[in-house]
Amino acid sequence: MRDHVTPRRVVILGGGFAGLFAARALRKSPVAVTVVDRRAHHLFQPLLYQCASGILSEGQIAQPLRGVLRRHHNVRCVLAEATDVDAGARLVHARRPEGADIVLPYDDLIVAVGMRQSYFGHDEFAAHAPGMKTLDDALDIRRRIYRAFEMAETAADDRERQQWLTFARGRAVVKAGPLHLSGFAGWLAWLFIRLAFLTGFRSRLGAVLSWSVVFATGSRRARAFTMPGTDVSAARAAGPKAPEPP
Ligand SMILES: Cc1cc2nc3c(=O)[nH]c(=O)nc-3n(C[C@H](O)[C@H](O)[C@H](O)COP(=O)(O)OP(=O)(O)OC[C@H]3O[C@@H](n4cnc5c(N)ncnc54)[C@H](O)[C@@H]3O)c2cc1C
Repeated sequence: MRDHVTPRRVVILGGGFAGLFAARALRKSPVAVTVVDRRAHHLFQPLLYQCASGILSEGQIAQPLRGVLRRHHNVRCVLAEATDVDAGARLVHARRPEGADIVLPYDDLIVAVGMRQSYFGHDEFAAHAPGMKTLDDALDIRRRIYRAFEMAETAADDRERQQWLTFARGRAVVKAGPLHLSGFAGWLAWLFIRLAFLTGFRSRLGAVLSWSVVFATGSRRARAFTMPGTDVSAARAAGPKAPEPP
């Protein structure tokens, strides 16, 4: 006896990169795919920096999920927030934007809901160091930056103007147990941590050299986007649309 219906029902939670690529991989398969996301758009996260700093508008880094998947005839999109998964009964419980609960049966489930900001037990940092994972986060940071510019413009004296225009370049807070470093010392500690543990595929000397150039010149080059066939400059050149998965 078969343990699934035909066509097989695949539910994908999350329409981020992972969810989209899963839907794309199933495009020609004899399955009925349901992509569930709490946002109606697919967000190109690597361009959040540009959105937060006002270089790109939100419409240039996000696209309607339905639009991205419009040629995938075996895919339907559901705007809902997944709240629970009953693996035994193969059911996803989700909440629609207006509050109604829905249940989605599945034969196969792909969970691709990304991640969220962590302050490692120090949620009080959030007020001073907001995360940047969603459009709302980027727009909040943009508001803060523009508000600071406005305040600087009308500051009473240079000292106050300087304070509004200080965006913590070369400053950080590093806390490990009882050790608490802030300002330039914190930044040096962070640099050490990056070099010692996080440099990854690059040579440490190369990382030091490029950071020195960035620090000395105040520039920040676009990050390399590592997904095959996609890069940040191509995305920016593409204009108002973020790149669509092939
Ligand atoms: C600022 C920034 C810059 C980055 N730059 C780069 C880069 O240069 N190169 C690189 O390789 N990577 C970069 N990344 C990382 C890359 O964007 C992520 O690794 C990638 O987006 C992860 O894809 P994902 O599908 O797992 O999650 P996401 O893209 O986060 O997608 C998760 C989706 O799930 C949805 N979701 C979450 N919870 C629920 C729920 N309960 N119910 C329904 N839907 C839900 C969300 O709305 C979202 O659409 C960057 C990330 C950020 C934040």
